Amino acid sequence: MSNKSSPLPKFLVDRYIHWKTSTYLKNELELKKLASSGQSPSTMVISCCDSRIHATSIFGADEGEFFIHRNIANLVPPYSPDGENHGTSAAIEYAIKELKVRHLIILGHQDCGGIKNGYYMHSNLVVFNYEFINKWLNILLPAFNKIQKDISKQKQIHQLEQESIKASINNLFSFPFIKKSVEDKNLSIHGLIHNIGTGDLKFLNPVTEDFENF
Ligand SMILES: [Zn+2]
Repeated sequence: MSNKSSPLPKFLVDRYIHWKTSTYLKNELELKKLASSGQSPSTMVISCCDSRIHATSIFGADEGEFFIHRNIANLVPPYSPDGENHGTSAAIEYAIKELKVRHLIILGHQDCGGIKNGYYMHSNLVVFNYEFINKWLNILLPAFNKIQKDISKQKQIHQLEQESIKASINNLFSFPFIKKSVEDKNLSIHGLIHNIGTGDLKFLNPVTEDFENF
């Protein structure tokens, strides 16, 4: 078998042609302007790969407004300049140093498969044979250690969703350029949890350190 790509499936080609002849045509001028001026997004969003999470939809954002990085369970690893490949850290570095975004949002969500797997893994309830995911979900360990263990599994997983965002925010501050940008008031960090079914969006209140409804 050769290492070649395949033609795009018809349903995707059809969707693209529809977009080009409708949405693109309607916004052609603005998109041309955006193409020549380059991007200048105000906000970076780190969200889960989960296909149900649409940060641009929730905030009504258009092209050029959000710099988005998605990974399993919307996690930020600790600052670790060890010469390895760090996709999330590279995206954060570009957003802060080059794009100079003013806001960085960690957008979590309820019923996150990554968080659930991390919970089962760290509880030693299930042994997963993933090649990459287990290592990635090790980032969750400090958050896992903070959750109450004498409550129902469902409540523990819900707590882990919340604690993981707090841990990721903590990890963000381990990046020297993030710490400096926040101290210089050039950047603000935000933690959010989205419930897809109800449409609710909870924010991490920095005073109470709880997630609250708007
Ligand atoms: Zn998820």
